[in-house]
Amino acid sequence: MSNRETKTDVILIGAGIMSATLGTLLKELVPEWKITVFEKLSKAGEESSNEWNNAGTGHAALCELNYTKEKPDGSVDISKAININEQFQLSMQFWSYLVNNKLIENPQDFIMPLPHMSFVQGEQNVTFLKKRFEALSNNPLFQGMEFSEDPEKLKEWIPLIMQERASNEAIAATKIDSGTDVNFGALTRMLFDHLESKNIDLNYKHSVSDIKRTSDGLWELKVRNLDRGTVERHTAKFVFIGGGGGSIHLLQKSGIPEGKNIGGFPVSGIFMVCNNPDVTAQHHAKVYGKAKVGAPPMSVPHLDTRFIDNKKSLLFGPFAGFSPKFLKTGSMFDLVTSIKPDNLLTMLSAGAKEMALTKYLIQQVMLSKEQRLAELREFIPNAKSEDWDLVVAGQRVQVIKDTEAGKGTLQFGTEVVSAADGSIAALLGASPGASTAVHVMIEVIKKCFPDHVKEWEPKIKEMIPSYGVSLMENPELLREIHTLTAQTLGLSISEKAKEKTKAKAKEPVLS
Ligand SMILES: Cc1cc2nc3c(=O)[nH]c(=O)nc-3n(C[C@H](O)[C@H](O)[C@H](O)COP(=O)(O)OP(=O)(O)OC[C@H]3O[C@@H](n4cnc5c(N)ncnc54)[C@H](O)[C@@H]3O)c2cc1C
Repeated sequence: MSNRETKTDVILIGAGIMSATLGTLLKELVPEWKITVFEKLSKAGEESSNEWNNAGTGHAALCELNYTKEKPDGSVDISKAININEQFQLSMQFWSYLVNNKLIENPQDFIMPLPHMSFVQGEQNVTFLKKRFEALSNNPLFQGMEFSEDPEKLKEWIPLIMQERASNEAIAATKIDSGTDVNFGALTRMLFDHLESKNIDLNYKHSVSDIKRTSDGLWELKVRNLDRGTVERHTAKFVFIGGGGGSIHLLQKSGIPEGKNIGGFPVSGIFMVCNNPDVTAQHHAKVYGKAKVGAPPMSVPHLDTRFIDNKKSLLFGPFAGFSPKFLKTGSMFDLVTSIKPDNLLTMLSAGAKEMALTKYLIQQVMLSKEQRLAELREFIPNAKSEDWDLVVAGQRVQVIKDTEAGKGTLQFGTEVVSAADGSIAALLGASPGASTAVHVMIEVIKKCFPDHVKEWEPKIKEMIPSYGVSLMENPELLREIHTLTAQTLGLSISEKAKEKTKAKAKEPVLS
C-alpha cells in the first residue's frame, strides 16, 4: 500500500555525519530549497557516525603514521598528511562558523583538545619517526610538534605507556597539542536538531528501497515506512546517497553508469574500552602506533582518551573483524547481494589479489581476549584484564574498483560517485571519514551544482574563510584561522584549564 507522495528539491538518504553536513551547508547556501531526509533507524548518527562506532579522532595527520610513507630512497613523503590536514582545517572553520552564528551550541559537547602522539618501538621505527618529525615540523601545518627518545620525557607525556617498560628498548614519540577528540555522534545529532529547526522534513524509520529516474529527469525513491508498514514514493531534483555502508546497494539501484564496476568489502572494527578511573586518569592523549606488517592501514593500533557524555574513558584498537554486513544493523546477505554482473570480475580480481588481507582478517577474528590483551600490553605493559571490555564498533566498507593499479584494487579513502548531470551523488568508503566531511561535501556541491558555485562562493568563504586557498602556503592566514577556531571551539585552553578539563572528565556521569 502506498499512502504518501512528495516532491522536493533535495533528498538526503541516511542521517549520518555526511548527510548532516551536506544538509547544513545547503541550508546556508539556499535556505529556500526544500530538503527531505530518510533514515531507516529511529535516531540520527546511530551507525558509523555514532561515538562508540568510531575512534573519534579529528584526523589531521598529526599522529597517523600511515599518512606518511617512507619512500624507496629513505625520505618520508608528507603529501598525503598535508592534504588531510588541510581538509580537517575546513571542518574546523565550518564548525566555528556554526558556533559563532549560534546554529549549534556548546562546542565542548562534540570537540575536546587532546594531544596527538605517535609512538614507536625498535631502532628502525625510531629512525623513521625522527625522519617523519623532521619532514613535518618545518611545515606550518604541523607547527608545535615535538620529538623525544628520552624515557624521562616520555614518562611525562605518557605515564601509563611507560610504566614497567623494559629500559633497554629503543622507543620514541612525537607529540602535538593541537589535536582533538571529536564526538561525531553528538555533532551529527546537533546538526540534525538545527536542520529540524529550519523545517527540513526529517523522517526516521523510513528505509529507501529503490531509486529510479523519472521520464522528466527527476529521481523517484521507493521508501518503506517501517512503523506503518507502508510504501511511499518521493521525488526530488537532487539525491544524496549518504547511507554509509548502505550506499553501494542504493548506488547500484540508481543504475547510473558511474556506479558500475564498483564493489565493497566490509571490515568490522572492535575496540577494547577501559572505564576504570584509576587507569583513565593516567593517560591524556591519542597515541597512534605503527601497523603490523601485512595489516591494512585502518588497523593501526592506537590508545585514545575519549570524552563521551562528560566521562573519560580509554579506547584501544581497532582489531579488525569480518562480517558480511555493510552496516552494523545490516543484513548477512549485504556482501553477496552487492555482487552484480558488472562488478563480478572486479570483485574476483580483488579476492585473488587480497589474500594477505583475507589471512589477516581470519587471524584477527580468531583472537582470544588474552591475545588482544597481549597487543594492548605492547602499549600498556601492566594492563589488567579486568579493566578492559570489548566493544564492537562500526562497519567500514572499503571500496573496490578498477584503477590504473589494476582490476579490483582495494581503496582505503572516501569516494564521491556522481551522475554526469550532477543530479545524484553517493559517498562510498571510510577513511579519513567523518573528520573530512566538510571537504567531501564541498566536493559534492562542486560536482553536482557547478552552475551555482560561482554565485555561492561568497557565502562559502564566509563559512570557510580558507576555501580555495592552501593554508600551508599562507602561514599568516593559517595562524589567524587557528587562533579563531581554537577560541570559538574552546580548544585554546591554558594549562590550568586543561587540568580542570581532565578533572571534570574524571568525575562520574551525572545524568
Ligand atoms: C571502527 C571505525 C573507526 C573510525 N574512526 C574514525 C575516526 O577516528 N575519525 C574519523 O574521522 N572517522 C572515523 N571513522 C569513519 C567515520 O565513522 C565515517 O566515515 C562516517 O561516520 C561516515 O558517515 P556517513 O554519514 O557516511 O555514514 P553513517 O554514519 O554510517 O550513516 C549512514 C546512515 O544511513 C542510514 N541508511 C543506510 N541505508 C539506508 C537506507 N536504505 N534507507 C535509509 N537510511 C539508510 C544508516 O542507518 C545510517 O544512519 C571510523 C569508522 C569506523 C567504522
